[in-house]
Amino acid sequence: MSSKVALITGTSSGIGLETAVAAARAGWTTVATLRDPDRAGALRAAADRAGVPLDVRRLDVTDPASVTAAIEGVVADHGRLDALINNAGAGHVGTIENETVEDVRRVMEVNFFGVVQTTKAAMPHLRAAGGRLITVTSVGGVIGQPFNEAYCAAKFAVEGFMESLAPVAARLGVTVSVVEPGAVATDFVDNIGLDVTKVIAAAGDYAEPLQGYVERTLGQFANSAQTPEQAAATVVEALTTERPPFRLQTSEWARDFTGTKLADHDGSAVLALTGGYLG
Ligand code: NAP
Repeated sequence: MSSKVALITGTSSGIGLETAVAAARAGWTTVATLRDPDRAGALRAAADRAGVPLDVRRLDVTDPASVTAAIEGVVADHGRLDALINNAGAGHVGTIENETVEDVRRVMEVNFFGVVQTTKAAMPHLRAAGGRLITVTSVGGVIGQPFNEAYCAAKFAVEGFMESLAPVAARLGVTVSVVEPGAVATDFVDNIGLDVTKVIAAAGDYAEPLQGYVERTLGQFANSAQTPEQAAATVVEALTTERPPFRLQTSEWARDFTGTKLADHDGSAVLALTGGYLG
């Protein structure tokens, strides 16, 4: 069994849960964190079915004290931290005229500042280990989509943060990657907690395009979503491949979709360019 230690955020369900199990199966000492330890039932059951051990700890990415306590606790108990997998995140559907700036701030708190917080706490340990920093972003971190202004802004922010950090971190021995899923069949859509009928009824001039967007998106999730196991396999690829690219899509669909915009699909051309700025 490898002595390498990976910490994953948001493992109560979905991609995070499957990534925790798959990382443990790949031989990593896996610290599966969640904001509410009472919600660890599905995680523990999946680990039991797979016959793998998990070190389950509390970490709320919006609570700086819990981030520090979890990461310092891992280093105290395991002696090292080789990989941070930023997976925790939450969707949001809305448009600026129909929501408050506070709504947008909340989306940024979880999806962007949460990643900033964990990354800051983990970096000294990742540097010491020559480790990996992996973040689950989204195809929405590359392409802005209707009624996803706040969510895509947050995921764009994460991608910009990580793309800027990557060449410097590489110089100091840390490999940075972002993983971009398209639709994945998790609790993600339900967890948005959108009462579609109510929101469309209150949407005013936005009702018709919102209805169109919701129908198209629910259709995509019903007909062509990946399983969370499939998305987790790409995260584990970023964890275990010898030289992972900066940018990984989790499916052919995600590759094609982001390819509408990206000339540098895996980020290698950008990193070669900006790495050269460092002398
Ligand atoms: P999910 O099943 O809803 O999982 C999200 C996880 O994040 C849950 O474990 C949730 O915990 C956790 N989380 C939320 N707020 C948190 C906080 N403040 N601190 C710590 N954990 C928190 O959805 P998922 O699809 O697996 O999402 C995982 C990642 O993939 C997210 O970053 C998401 O943006 C990204 N993604 C998903 C899709 C998709 O179609 N599913 C597509 C592209 C990108 P609780 O149970 O406590 O809420």
